[in-house]
Amino acid sequence: MSVTQIQRRIAQLQRQLLALGPLHPGSISEQYNVCGQLACHCKDPKISQKHGPYYQLSFTWQGKSSTRFLRAEQVEPMRQKVANYRRLRELMGEWVSLAVERERAERARAKQQDGD
Ligand SMILES: [Zn+2]
Repeated sequence: MSVTQIQRRIAQLQRQLLALGPLHPGSISEQYNVCGQLACHCKDPKISQKHGPYYQLSFTWQGKSSTRFLRAEQVEPMRQKVANYRRLRELMGEWVSLAVERERAERARAKQQDGD
């Protein structure tokens, strides 16, 4: 890729980053629980019908791990936020790769000019 192409792609990534909506790190998991009631179906080993699913969000940020339970109506918006965060990481990763490539391309060009 030429420096111009790299610059164009970086500008495109910057626009995509600006267009990202709400985001949140982490992943969502489903939990099935057994309750405290003695005769509940959730303890029957034959049917094994536990309560749930309950959704929880787990994430680590600045060295601290957290888990948050999500209400049913929070699950889909949180899935979108988690997807946006993943997208942010992808876009940033590509930007950094391009920055490294651009540096290399510029050095190679400068070296070529020195040789002339
Ligand atoms: Zn139960």
